Amino acid sequence: MEGAAPILESRGARILFDSAEGEGLRCLSHAHMDHAGSPGALNIMTGETQRIFASRKRYYRKYLQSPLGVKITPQEGVSLTALNSGHMLGSSMFKLEADGLSILYTGDMNVYDSILQRGAEQHEAEVLIIESTYGSPIYRFPNREEIYYQIIKWAARTLAAGEIPALKAYSAGKAQEIMALINEALRVPVLVAPEVYEVSKVYKSTYRWLDFLRVGTREGEEVAKNGAVYISPQRDILKLAERRVRWALATGWVLTRRQEGYDAYFPLSAHSDFQGLFSYAKNSNYKTILTIYGFSSTLAKHLRRLGINAYSLEEKTQIKL
Ligand SMILES: [Zn+2]
Repeated sequence: MEGAAPILESRGARILFDSAEGEGLRCLSHAHMDHAGSPGALNIMTGETQRIFASRKRYYRKYLQSPLGVKITPQEGVSLTALNSGHMLGSSMFKLEADGLSILYTGDMNVYDSILQRGAEQHEAEVLIIESTYGSPIYRFPNREEIYYQIIKWAARTLAAGEIPALKAYSAGKAQEIMALINEALRVPVLVAPEVYEVSKVYKSTYRWLDFLRVGTREGEEVAKNGAVYISPQRDILKLAERRVRWALATGWVLTRRQEGYDAYFPLSAHSDFQGLFSYAKNSNYKTILTIYGFSSTLAKHLRRLGINAYSLEEKTQIKL
């Protein structure tokens, strides 16, 4: 994730979003490490985000839980509502109301439904601060169902050849989505790297049916003898239970940056593609739109062409609203 996260200053309140630097109230949209800011005076996030951070040994001791859809008042004159952002378990946008102004900060956002959760819904506000990780028209993802089908087809074919299909994916969010898909569609055990295992235990308290084993355990080795699917954030093994491992890469970046050495590439992303972001930004009547992270200038330029008041926060670092 490139670019600095936003800070909002209003009368007597300083609100930091995600990894923004400084002191104040910190709103954490989700438990990805590139969004983890240093602990603020008070840290606001959903219970799931707090538990996933803790499973990754990131602790926020002064913590206020903001359940989805519940308006909270962490400070006089400031109200906050966390809203589903569709990016991973516990991920939220924040709608902030202060000084008679309403602001919607999306954090990382996915507008499309996945096997585990619903996509982000449209919400009204005067100002929208929207992520633009894939905010360039070169990023257009296939339907999620189609990507799922391709993953299953590749895994089944690899298993039929007596080999172990292994997927390289982020350990929080993407790994559990692939795990859920394999659990639902194929009758094979899912083995995971230790860091995926820790996060998956938090997922299991919401999705009790998820089924997985940690790699390197005796039980894991035993079940893998008859075939298994492996998920890890790094390409870390070449053999499992005497079988050859074949690697696939699952990330939206495969559309433009294809690393060598994988057997298959799947553009599975926890973000929206350009069309998803663009539609989200233009489908409500936001007075001002600020784009942030990734292709923020490109997305802002496309929105300005529609006559929308849009700026990249990377280009315009201070704005009076
Ligand atoms: Zn993220």
